[in-house]
Amino acid sequence: MVGLNDGEGGSGVRHDSNTTRRGAVTAGAASRGVGTAVDTTRSTAPVISSQKHGPSDGSVWWPPLPAAWCAASWWHTSSARVVAPPGPAASQQAAASANRISRRVLRITPSVRPLFRLAQPRPGRVDCLAMGERVEYRDGRWVVPSHPIIPFIEGDGTGPDIWRAARRVFDATVRKVSGGKRQIDWLEVLAGEKAFKQVGNWLPEATLDAIRGHRVAIKGPLTTPVGGGIRSLNVALRQVLDLYACIRPVRYFEGVPSPMREPQKLDVVIFRENIEDVYSGIEYRAGGPEADAVIGFLTERFGAKIRPGSAIGIKPMSKFGSQRLVAKAIEYALRAGRRSVTLVHKGNIMKFTEGGFREWGYEVARERFGTKTIPEADTGDGDTGKVIIKDRITDAMFAQLVLRPEEYSVIAAPNLNGDLLSDAAAAQVGGLGLAPGGNVGDGYAVFEATHGTAPKYAGQDKVNPGSVILSGAMMFEELGWDDVATAIARGLGGAIRARRVTYDLARLMPGATEVSTSAFAECIIEHV
Ligand code: NAP
Repeated sequence: MVGLNDGEGGSGVRHDSNTTRRGAVTAGAASRGVGTAVDTTRSTAPVISSQKHGPSDGSVWWPPLPAAWCAASWWHTSSARVVAPPGPAASQQAAASANRISRRVLRITPSVRPLFRLAQPRPGRVDCLAMGERVEYRDGRWVVPSHPIIPFIEGDGTGPDIWRAARRVFDATVRKVSGGKRQIDWLEVLAGEKAFKQVGNWLPEATLDAIRGHRVAIKGPLTTPVGGGIRSLNVALRQVLDLYACIRPVRYFEGVPSPMREPQKLDVVIFRENIEDVYSGIEYRAGGPEADAVIGFLTERFGAKIRPGSAIGIKPMSKFGSQRLVAKAIEYALRAGRRSVTLVHKGNIMKFTEGGFREWGYEVARERFGTKTIPEADTGDGDTGKVIIKDRITDAMFAQLVLRPEEYSVIAAPNLNGDLLSDAAAAQVGGLGLAPGGNVGDGYAVFEATHGTAPKYAGQDKVNPGSVILSGAMMFEELGWDDVATAIARGLGGAIRARRVTYDLARLMPGATEVSTSAFAECIIEHV
């Protein structure tokens, strides 16, 4: 069995004569949610119109009787929150109590009975009776209510520590920025060790259903199961929801120790293809019957010259997969007012895969965004006001990011190039500790901390929550809540400038005060 080098692995097939694993790419149909109130274009701050608080099945909404409201709230709550039996005892008690309340409410107000589906008493978890609505995706746009329901996976190891801190930051920032008009209704879904312990499944179908239904989710780090079962939860999520763009913004926060003299010059957003290339690659072990058979076939059929006994690797890259990734990067550049999109490839050597990525990238820029983009070769001297499409060979790009980082803004890359570039760029601005990530498809997105579970620090309220907090900022930006995203980044920057930071940064910042995960979150909130 041959693994990949990012600790997560791809979905492709790896053969060692005994084992075959194959990933499936099936974007599930989304369950429909609430007809809702806000249509954001994402380039502007969202406009909030009055809320239609009601059930999501298209039934007639009853006037806002307190009792009816309570029952409707419970309908949302129960349908969304029952994810995995058995939940903790307190949650089950809360669920039972909520069911009792909703039944009592319906007895008092028989006229509203037909309008609501009564929640069945089921084991599960209830955090609160909230009035959230689903995020929707229509005509290529997120439709975001002022009280969106957002599923979260708290993660394993240090996941609960950083998630607790992040949630405080998110809630406080949303409340402050919106003057209390907006609020997240968090919905816990299970994955990883916690799911395995509670329901015997590392990635329960209910979790995938909840994320499909609510479309946008955020997660902490997950333990990769050892010794069978699912190969990587992160990869499984990306494949099942067809989250084809892995987005990694890399920017400098003043005060963070960096190996560069001018780390602030690097400010890029990397769009890495998330499904193809080595993530759906096929490998055959050297000397195995599959490798020998492929070598035999290529030699006899096409006259290929391959040393006998070689290992074989195949990396599929399609025009479809490449173009949708490049299109997403260009759309982002246009939306965010970024100056250029650079296609990074090794097309000088791999002409049909990596070279194809370059060619298809320019093609989609020309055909879909022709009036708004311009190839670098056609720019002349002046600023055309259009997004410039450039391309660079991978090895040259690594050098360029070190030597002339200010010339790059948005980067679009195939899977392996993007993987390498993301971590190298993050190192330039001080390492992976603060690097956020998002996996985004068409109408689905999962944002995540990019580091692992750091199990030796679990439960110590010690580690840096910055990665998951900035991933949340990305999520809010994706949903059009740019004001929240900006405020979170401002808060984090303020905490670092105040030199009250977690151990990982404190040990590198002379004179800094080391604070706990939760105290760091409070400091961020102070600076929002
Ligand atoms: P890791 O959890 O990232 O930890 C490696 C080291 O990175 C830690 O010992 C710590 O360094 C530092 N670190 C990680 N998170 C930190 C944080 N929030 N704040 C400060 N420092 C942090 O990598 P690992 O030990 O290789 O992997 C552990 C588990 O996580 C494995 O099961 C792996 O499969 C999984 N994993 C999950 C994801 C994901 O879910 N996205 C990604 C990678 C790995 P010091 O020891 O120097 O303090």
